Amino acid sequence: MRTGAMHQGLDLTDGFDRPGVFASRPPGPVWLIAGLTGVGYYLGTKVGFALTFQPHAVSTLWPPNAVLLAALLLTAPRYWWLVLLAAFPAHLLGQIQGSVPTLQVLAWFASNCSEALIGASCIWYVRRAPLRLKSFGEFCGFIGFGALLAPFLSSFLDIGLLKLIGWGQGEFWSLWEMRFFSNVLASILLVPLILVWRNHLQDARAGQSPAHVFEAVFVVLCVLIVSAVVFKQDFSSGPDSATLFVMLPFLLWAAVRLGVRGTSMALLIVAVASIWAAIHGRGPFVAGSPDQSALTVQMFLIVISIPLLLLAAIIEERGRTQDALRSSEERFAKAFHSSPDAMAILRLSDGHVIDVNDRWQLLFGYSRQEAIGRTTTSLGLFDDVQTRAGLAARIEKEEHLRDLPLDLRTKYGTALKVLMTAEKTEMEGMPCVISILRDVTEQRRVEQEAAEQRRHMTHLTRVAVLGQLSGALAHELNQPLTAILSNAQAAQRFLMREEPDLDELRDILKDIVADDKRAGEVIRRLRALLGRGETQLDHLNVNDIVEETLTLMHGELVARHVSLHTEYDEAVPEVMADRVQLQQVLLNLILNATEAMSEKPSDERVLTVRTACDEAGRAKISVSDSGTGIAPELLDTMFQPFFTTKEQGMGLGLSISRNIILAHAGALWAERNPEVGATLHIQLPACHAEENSDDAIREH
Ligand code: ADP
Repeated sequence: MRTGAMHQGLDLTDGFDRPGVFASRPPGPVWLIAGLTGVGYYLGTKVGFALTFQPHAVSTLWPPNAVLLAALLLTAPRYWWLVLLAAFPAHLLGQIQGSVPTLQVLAWFASNCSEALIGASCIWYVRRAPLRLKSFGEFCGFIGFGALLAPFLSSFLDIGLLKLIGWGQGEFWSLWEMRFFSNVLASILLVPLILVWRNHLQDARAGQSPAHVFEAVFVVLCVLIVSAVVFKQDFSSGPDSATLFVMLPFLLWAAVRLGVRGTSMALLIVAVASIWAAIHGRGPFVAGSPDQSALTVQMFLIVISIPLLLLAAIIEERGRTQDALRSSEERFAKAFHSSPDAMAILRLSDGHVIDVNDRWQLLFGYSRQEAIGRTTTSLGLFDDVQTRAGLAARIEKEEHLRDLPLDLRTKYGTALKVLMTAEKTEMEGMPCVISILRDVTEQRRVEQEAAEQRRHMTHLTRVAVLGQLSGALAHELNQPLTAILSNAQAAQRFLMREEPDLDELRDILKDIVADDKRAGEVIRRLRALLGRGETQLDHLNVNDIVEETLTLMHGELVARHVSLHTEYDEAVPEVMADRVQLQQVLLNLILNATEAMSEKPSDERVLTVRTACDEAGRAKISVSDSGTGIAPELLDTMFQPFFTTKEQGMGLGLSISRNIILAHAGALWAERNPEVGATLHIQLPACHAEENSDDAIREH
């Protein structure tokens, strides 16, 4: 039952479960670890023999199996065969003792391997990662599977084979007991020591302060001296077990201050000293028989090692957690103070300021000292208390808010537009909020200016279109005015008769009223188109809008000798749109169409305006002409600002029209007609009854 390997600073384990990681590595470290396993196993055998009660054959502390287990825990499972192979010659070399039959030597190797494999397999299976012994949980797993279960099971195989081969004497259960305890003790003392030293050597940041190194050396020396003193004593004159407790403060010191590494070292010193002393008939563990002495010392060492190692593991884990917490707090503080956005930590209930960063101070004009301890209301950040209270209620409910637009005020009363992102958190048991404010005052101002300029531009182009139509519009106004005049003159003439025909007069006055209304209507529409009113959305009947626009264009179409053809679909849905803007688009398209036909003979100038409901239920208006048509490569380009082919053109009509339609969530595009001319299509979403006409149009 003997085997072993020492290996430190090798990394054959990391990422073992990621395919290809090991395959791509040079084989160097594998051979190194195998070599160290062999050497460690062999040396372990020698130490094991040295700690054997003579003439008894069973060692009190048998390191090779523990070394083999540690080697497997440090190696990826795909290399375990190599580790076991490396241990084999070491096993043979260590076990050649003349009288032991070869079969027995082989049986021991099998049981040793089985122990290491049981322990390592269970741990790998549960963890699916290399064992680092960096947490209490890992430690419990190691003790349960590696230090207790594996020796427990493999001891049956070991002693069973021993009995089968018929070598050695002693009862099955007493041999099983000796083998079990000797292996448990070795695992508890050596595996953590190897693993944590390996961690230490691998961890580049493991450098420790000279004070800590001094403390470690001091404690280890104290344990060494105290062990020498205690275990050198002759207890045969009477047990003085109280002396044993002299070691306790130093072992506790190691557990509390030096972690698993220091504790394992201290325990190993105590173990070697106590076993060595017992073998030589000294110390408190000398019992009647070697078996009894071995068992007593093993029990003592196992019983003190497990709690001390667990204590060390817990303290180390807590220390690491605290370090992680501290460094995470430091990172947060750094990010908080150096953030380019204004940040504040506030108490959720009343907006009491807990902390603010540099950018916040710059933005609001309050220094940290001025702000901390006051509430956002007393600092005057909000114009009214309700906004703050509403905000707090929302954060309370939703836990986090993203990019919420807010209007705030600085210390000097300047209005700020910010986007607030807030996260609810708990600090010292108090609900707090971490808010990040992005100042968008300037951005909003620029956006507003741009929108205002776009509005100006839209208005100006509309006025320009109307300018182009002025002749036709004047004619449109002249017609009713002339009719009114001639009707009025006719009425005057009727009145000069002796018996004026009153029915005739009534008809004349009716005509005058109708003509006046017609003129008034033209003026009303022109005023609307010329005005710079705010965008206003209404439920509009598409056919009505087309009809109104064509009425305005009537004179122009007549003047240009364009014959108009209309196809109204009664099923066309209503749209939610701004009347003036939609008319502007139509005016523009119709004007472009008439201009495109200006070079055609007058009898070939046909304008067709259709309305329809498309397959998706949207409203569609198409303006077709029989003009020059559009080159395929210009179908998109013509919508770009300042694209024009006309001498007097501005090239803005289509780009503004498309923006208007896009702002209405619609589409505007051009198409070449199959035979002659072009068609421009407007598509607008149908409006639903529940849509609110007060909704602002999307800025275009
Ligand atoms: P403008 O009328 O000032 O040139 P627009 O943006 O309204 O500006 O039109 C841009 C260009 O698109 C026009 O110059 C013309 O070349 C082309 N275009 C627009 N409508 C038509 C059409 N119905 N047929 C042919 N070309 C057209």
